[in-house]
Amino acid sequence: MTKEKYKTLLVSLFVISLFCFSVVNAKVVEELPLFGKIIFVDAGHGGRDPGTMYGKIMEKDINLEISQKLQDTLMEKGAIVYMTRDSDEDLSSEWDPKKKRGDLYRRIVMFRKKQADLYLSIHINWHAQAGIKGPEVLYNNINKENKYLGEILMDHFESSLNTKRVLKTTDLYMYRNTTVPGVLIECGYLSNYQERQLLQSDTYQQKLADIITDATIDFFQTRHQKITNENES
Ligand SMILES: [Zn+2]
Repeated sequence: MTKEKYKTLLVSLFVISLFCFSVVNAKVVEELPLFGKIIFVDAGHGGRDPGTMYGKIMEKDINLEISQKLQDTLMEKGAIVYMTRDSDEDLSSEWDPKKKRGDLYRRIVMFRKKQADLYLSIHINWHAQAGIKGPEVLYNNINKENKYLGEILMDHFESSLNTKRVLKTTDLYMYRNTTVPGVLIECGYLSNYQERQLLQSDTYQQKLADIITDATIDFFQTRHQKITNENES
C-alpha cells in the first residue's frame, strides 16, 4: 500500500468511527435522556417520624412507595439514582440532641457527598379544609435553578392531573441549606378523601413517578436554554 492510500484509509476509518459515535450518541440521548445524571430521591420522614397521618395511614410509608417507583422510572431513563432511605428508618443518630434536625442534616450531607445533579424530596400534605387537594411544589432560592425546576414540575402536574395548587417558596431547614438543585414535592393531601385513596394505589403512585420523571427530563433538556435566555435579557 502506498503512503497516499494508507493516509486515505486512515481518514476514512476516522470519518466512519465519528459517524458511528454520533449515531450511538443520538440513540443514548433519545432513549436514555437522563444518562449519567446523579439524582437523589428523598423519601420524607421515616422510622420514629411518621409525618402526617390519617388513622393508621402514615405519610412516611406512602413517601417511600412513591420514591421507590420514582427510583425505577428515573433509572430506566439512564439516571444514577440514590435514595436517602429505602426502608422505614430515620437518619438521625443516637448522639443527635435534636433527632429531626440530625435526620435532615444527614440528608443534606448525602446530597453533597455524591455531588448530586438534583434532589427530589417526596412528601404528602395535610390541610384542615378537607376539600383541598392536588400536588404542589415548594422551592428555596438558595439555588437559582430551583424556581425553574418547580415551574416545570407544576406545569406537568397541571396538565396531567389538573392540580389547582400553585408553586410556593419554603424556608424549611433542609431546603435552605441544600445547594444542589432540588425541590420539595408534596404529592397530594392525606386530608382529602379522594386523594387519600389515590395516594395509596400503586397505579396512581406510578403515575406520579412518571410525571415527575417527565418533568425531570424536561428540566435537564431546557435548563441551559433558560440560563442563556436570562443572560441575554
Ligand atoms: Zn412530610
